[in-house]
Amino acid sequence: MDCIFCAIARGELGTKLIYEDEDVVAFEDLNPQAPTHILVIPRRHYPSLQDVPKDEIGIVARLAAAAQELAAERRIWPSGYRLVVNSGSEGGQTVSHLHLHVLGGRQMVWPPG
Ligand code: 5GP
Ligand code: ZN
Repeated sequence: MDCIFCAIARGELGTKLIYEDEDVVAFEDLNPQAPTHILVIPRRHYPSLQDVPKDEIGIVARLAAAAQELAAERRIWPSGYRLVVNSGSEGGQTVSHLHLHVLGGRQMVWPPG
């Protein structure tokens, strides 16, 4: 299977991993939309949030835990940050490997575009 995020998680593209545990890795977004823009992904390939089986949904909490740690480390808390999971075409998802965007370092606006 040809998945760019799987390749990054395996360390094949030389992308610097800024967080790593048994199940989760994180790295800087290539096209940052904020001063801090990190992608947190499961090592296992799920095309989208909808594809996570109910008995594996705990991985989403693991992504959130990594985001929490990174937000503290990057000092975007307590100023604040945004977590985004684009899902499917109308959700704005362009890479078909579940990922959590961690955005911070500037004022976010609501609603998003
Ligand atoms: P999506 O639109 O699917 O929610 O987000 C995909 C994100 O992945 C985009 O923000 C895009 O900039 C980022 N991205 C796509 N390809 C690469 C890559 O090869 N390396 C990194 N670091 N980020 C990527
Ligand atoms: Zn993948």
